Amino acid sequence: MNGTIAVVGAGISGLLVARALKARVGKVMVLEKSRGLGGRLATKRVGEAVFDTGAQYFTAKSERFAAMVAEWGTTGVVAPWPGASAHRWIARPSMNALGKFLAGGLEVRREAKVVKVQRAPGGWELTIENQPPARAERLVLTAPLPQSLALLQAGGVELPSELVKELAALTYHPCLALLLTLGGASAVPVEGVALTNGRVRWIADNTKKGISPGVAGAVTVHLSPSFAAEHFAKTETELAAMVLPDIADWLCAPVVNVALQRWKFSEPVASFAKGCVWLPELGLGLAGDSLGGPRVEGAALSGLELADQMAVDANA
Ligand SMILES: Cc1cc2nc3c(=O)[nH]c(=O)nc-3n(C[C@H](O)[C@H](O)[C@H](O)COP(=O)(O)OP(=O)(O)OC[C@H]3O[C@@H](n4cnc5c(N)ncnc54)[C@H](O)[C@@H]3O)c2cc1C
Repeated sequence: MNGTIAVVGAGISGLLVARALKARVGKVMVLEKSRGLGGRLATKRVGEAVFDTGAQYFTAKSERFAAMVAEWGTTGVVAPWPGASAHRWIARPSMNALGKFLAGGLEVRREAKVVKVQRAPGGWELTIENQPPARAERLVLTAPLPQSLALLQAGGVELPSELVKELAALTYHPCLALLLTLGGASAVPVEGVALTNGRVRWIADNTKKGISPGVAGAVTVHLSPSFAAEHFAKTETELAAMVLPDIADWLCAPVVNVALQRWKFSEPVASFAKGCVWLPELGLGLAGDSLGGPRVEGAALSGLELADQMAVDANA
């Protein structure tokens, strides 16, 4: 297995752990189930309209992540969100651009859905849907935690029981994102608007954000976690009929198309205080936002922390 490290997931935590380990330890292979890169740093095209559907922006409050973001800024792949009052960073031209940028120089197998991970002589075997299995000496899982735990369970991998108890308690809120193409300009401010009560929690106009110049308005509407949990299976038409009256004053223009993105795992309900999990005896690491703290910055820090711990062990 030549010391290969397999990283499951090409979200920000997986890509950062892969980049750091490639630089410090050696051969790294990333397996991503989607065609796109970046995970919940996600962008979707619907006709002529382009929408950031997951993370809308990110912060860089910690010294370590701020230094990294400042360096990315010099390449133009991230920039402050124009007009935003607080310090918010966005990727350019749209949020998934950061995933593509971070994957540069890495071996990434896209459309490689891992369905089981199990112990094998000298490391790990990963079963991949419709593809030959992959082998690696060490394994990093960065999918939302319930999905990572399901891969381990499918392969009969036993973790320490106290740890399993702690990890199994880390659940996620769902989110529903309505993607509205408008026939005219919206009244949504450039920096988007967070709503604190009711069925809608966030509205942003991607045309004003600068990523959807082909249409007069392309509005992402995130519905609140409790509403999303109750109405997760509803169609875009049903959801639009329920919530569009609530935000008519922000839209101020006819809705010419409605699309829907369902996020089963949107943001962690609570996070694990330890940042990441590294089990050297198994050669197994876990990273992501439910371990490092909610949101992009917490996920990034989790990946970096895991890479630090794995590099120390590799060099010991
Ligand atoms: C609707 C929404 C709004 C948000 N808004 C914000 C915001 O404004 N600001 C902010 O900072 N954060 C926001 N977040 C949270 C932020 O997007 C996440 O915290 C962060 O992107 C998580 O990164 P991650 O690497 O931990 O996980 P992910 O980005 O989920 O990456 C995990 C990757 O693993 C892949 N994967 C999963 N299972 C498998 C498998 N079996 N085989 C292969 N690959 C697999 C997935 O496809 C994915 O690419 C939002 C999230 C959502 C959904």
